[in-house]
Amino acid sequence: MALDGARGARDEESREKKKKKKRRRKEEEEEEGEEEEEGAEAGGSPSAATMGDGDAGGRGLAGARPRGTERPSAVHGRLVLAFAVCIVALLAVTALAVLLSLRFDGCGPGAPGGAPGLPARGGNASLPGPARRDPQAGGEASTPGAPAARPPSDAEREREREREREPEREPEREHPWTHLRLPGHLKPLHYNLMLTAFMDNFTFSGEVNVEVACTNRTRYVVLHASRVAVDRVQLAEDRAAGAVPVAGFFLYPQTQVLVVVLNRSLDAHRNYNLKVVYSALIENELLGFFRSSYVLHGERRFLGVTQFSPTHARKAFPCFDEPIYKATFKISIKHQATYLSLSNMPVETSVFEEDGWVTDHFSQTPLMSTYYLAWAICNFTYRETTTKSGVAVRLYARPDAIRRGSGDYALHITKRLIEFYEDYFKVPYSLPKLDLLAVPKHPYAAMENWGLSIFVEQRILLDPSVSSISYLLDVTMVIVHEICHQWFGDLVTPVWWEDVWLKEGFAHYFEFVGTDYLYPGWNMEKQRFLTDVLHEVMLLDGLASSHPVSQEVLQATDIDRVFDWIAYKKGAALIRMLANFMGHSVFQRGLQDYLTIHKYGNAARNDLWNTLSEALKRNGKFVNIQEVMDQWTLQMGYPVITILGNLTAENRIIITQQHFIYDISAKTKALQLQNNSYLWQIPLTIVVGNRSHVSSEAIIWVSNKSEHHRITLDKGSWLLGNINQTGYFRVNYDLRNWRLLIDQLIRNHQVLSVSNRAGLIDDAFSLARAGYLPQHIPLEIIRYLSEEKDFLPWHAASRALYPLDKLLDRMEKYNVFNEYILKQVATTYIKLGWPKNNFNGSLVQASYQHEELRREVIMLACSFGNKHCHQQASTLISDWISSNRNRIPLNVRDIVYCTGVSLLDEDVWEFIWMKFHSTTAVSEKKILLEALTCSDDRNLLNRLLNLSLNSEVVLDQDAIDVIIHVARNPHGRDLAWKFFRDKWKILNTRYGEALFMNSKLISGVTEFLNTEGELKELKNFMKTYDGVAAASFLRAVETVEANVRWKALYQDELFQWLGKALRH
Ligand SMILES: [Zn+2]
Repeated sequence: MALDGARGARDEESREKKKKKKRRRKEEEEEEGEEEEEGAEAGGSPSAATMGDGDAGGRGLAGARPRGTERPSAVHGRLVLAFAVCIVALLAVTALAVLLSLRFDGCGPGAPGGAPGLPARGGNASLPGPARRDPQAGGEASTPGAPAARPPSDAEREREREREREPEREPEREHPWTHLRLPGHLKPLHYNLMLTAFMDNFTFSGEVNVEVACTNRTRYVVLHASRVAVDRVQLAEDRAAGAVPVAGFFLYPQTQVLVVVLNRSLDAHRNYNLKVVYSALIENELLGFFRSSYVLHGERRFLGVTQFSPTHARKAFPCFDEPIYKATFKISIKHQATYLSLSNMPVETSVFEEDGWVTDHFSQTPLMSTYYLAWAICNFTYRETTTKSGVAVRLYARPDAIRRGSGDYALHITKRLIEFYEDYFKVPYSLPKLDLLAVPKHPYAAMENWGLSIFVEQRILLDPSVSSISYLLDVTMVIVHEICHQWFGDLVTPVWWEDVWLKEGFAHYFEFVGTDYLYPGWNMEKQRFLTDVLHEVMLLDGLASSHPVSQEVLQATDIDRVFDWIAYKKGAALIRMLANFMGHSVFQRGLQDYLTIHKYGNAARNDLWNTLSEALKRNGKFVNIQEVMDQWTLQMGYPVITILGNLTAENRIIITQQHFIYDISAKTKALQLQNNSYLWQIPLTIVVGNRSHVSSEAIIWVSNKSEHHRITLDKGSWLLGNINQTGYFRVNYDLRNWRLLIDQLIRNHQVLSVSNRAGLIDDAFSLARAGYLPQHIPLEIIRYLSEEKDFLPWHAASRALYPLDKLLDRMEKYNVFNEYILKQVATTYIKLGWPKNNFNGSLVQASYQHEELRREVIMLACSFGNKHCHQQASTLISDWISSNRNRIPLNVRDIVYCTGVSLLDEDVWEFIWMKFHSTTAVSEKKILLEALTCSDDRNLLNRLLNLSLNSEVVLDQDAIDVIIHVARNPHGRDLAWKFFRDKWKILNTRYGEALFMNSKLISGVTEFLNTEGELKELKNFMKTYDGVAAASFLRAVETVEANVRWKALYQDELFQWLGKALRH
């Protein structure tokens, strides 16, 4: 699964702020803004113009008002009816559940005298004794310091433990449906799933037949089911005629299970057939089996797709919805013949009926987990290709997108990537086909369902005539990520959710490796990885409210929580560190073994560590990888290494390590951090250099708090640690060494590699931010940039300056900072100039490094208010408006649009708004929408915020970006913050379950708040919504506290130094 913004949210940021004008109007406009918002809420339903995507739509939108639903009214009536029926059914089932539970409390096996009224006992808050003996939380893997595991694998051990649970040794748990994990008495072997989808009223009915093996005598069949209305349940002994009488069944919503109560116990070591007949809605939301729509030739068309990861398959059919329960699946889908259906496997046969319906029977899948199952019902068309090894690859999308060729790029690289991974992993792709499906609405950038991966259009469709390099890179990396999952995830699946980082970290790391394969000159793994992954995640993981990459999953809500940037980016950074200290070829061979051993099964991290240790051993190296990696995966955060020259003992240095935290006061507050016991085994690579010479690289394993080492160091020589930033830690030096390094950069920066230059910049800014270094050191470092011709150091500087800018942008003395940055940018800006025009339609051949550098510098110049840059942007926009021909170079369009909207008047905003509606290219739509958030005009920003919640104007997943981008605009920060609080209930209803989106929204709206007042508002707001999205809000509070603290401690120091620096 690729989270949205996989390449780093800040990257494609068009900075909205400019120096010019209008602050004086702030107060009056604020009041106007307030009125506008009230007006918006009081308004009626939108004009028809808001719904079309034609040219007329845009201008008519001035009076548009948000509304809550996107359903056509005819369908609406039917749905209400369907809904009512479901509610009645649910009520009936609940009543039955209560009755049954009362009854079974009295007579069930091992029934205690305990509390009657089963549903009221609810949840899994207090696990009774026996539950703790079960491998509920994912096996031994969660125990730090456990002895090194030996084969058999963790997955096998988990199964072994379950086999051991014989009835005589462990009595059946009381109320086995109340626990987070399924009881484990039954194992699904094979599912036959027959669905009938009614796309005219968005309902579906289903019949699932599950062949289960009973491993443990039981009177209850407990499996997952949520939001489905169960009509009928039957159970029969496999192959034998005899039915097992069902006493009753009920849904238990607290743990999302269906409980079937039997009149007699099922016997261990026998197989049974469970049949469940049910129905449900094809919901208008983002999870389970849900619908979305698009407009073709003025007509709205609907499609139904699935998103089952992590725990939503149960919304589409009753199943054993945990990754360890791998089974085979045979799916049949009946639908109107005007649609087509897709699933993981190819269609085996299609049976047409006279009434205009057709049933597609899909081939049987290999062993797989429920959350990788998928299907879709749509009117899409496709293009197709075949890999060397005969895998059929198809890209399905809206017919107009297919006709324009917008899917061709994705199709082309997918074919190449399957070939790449087959060669790299030495394991063939497992299914006969892979379909990529581009859908308009999806909670994530993409989802790697086996054989049917689903992408949001913006992450897969690419129209070469209107796409920038960064858009191309985004699309490429999401595809590389999902194709990697076909091996890491689909084929070998983590045992339990605590190790989700294993599959996500790998897929994220391979985004860079795979892109290097497609574009060998781009140096993604060696360079871009630093800014887009390492620097980004160290920012997050430097908070006291961070968490270990491997997190225990003890309750259902934890499952969503594990999908966050720490899992993805820290996972990837740790894997990169591992690959580097193992050596890439040994690492690759280790992965080949791991996939071969565990294919079609499950594995936990220790299985990987063991396989990699074995691979090293075969190469004559003995490193206990588990021992090293446990410290990095089970402890949160990361160390800062400090290297001090020892003045008294010549040629000796002192190396210390400590847990790096941005806000030291947060460290003293957090109890678990106070004991100060955090230690890591750190592979510290180091070189010594001077103006003319750099030593070869040495590696020191640092494992103590403080160590002495011998290093020959001349007077004028500097030390540099963590070469090319392959390690997941920061390095600090004494001031003398920092000065020598700065001097080296200014005299001849090329003595240090590109990655080292970028690494130094990021370390210096972060160390200063946390108070480890004087504030002026990073600002002194970036002075050398006027000579810098490589993209990466500029990129690192730009990304480090960005949060600093947001801390200062509402300050009175802000101009001093602004002027200093402009001064550093000016020379390079003039030298590079603007791109002349596009790359003759061939993005791929364009020089990525050069174009990205030029783009970065233009972005800095325009956002910090370089006059020429502003002029150029205004001219380009005016030319577009007057000629109605867009001649703006593709790679800087977002910057030009944003700068134009911020500098020019409301007509430009309206023009961009109109273009946003009329354009069909998804990449263009995205940057037009973002440009609208760059306005200085608070009325327009308020209008945009209100429109963002109208699903027909702004897609659900894009609304979050609108709010976040408004928050990044200093003129809109308070508006977005207020809007967020006012609309929290709506937002939380819409995104709460898609937890990642919710947490992205929370951090996006709060991360640049930095006054005492705002901090208080945040804390008060949290009190009102106690417990909801608690982890995200805790992080938000810590970030804002750190912002406030930094300003109090360091802002004067910074401004003073800047003032002096500018005078000289
Ligand atoms: Zn993923």
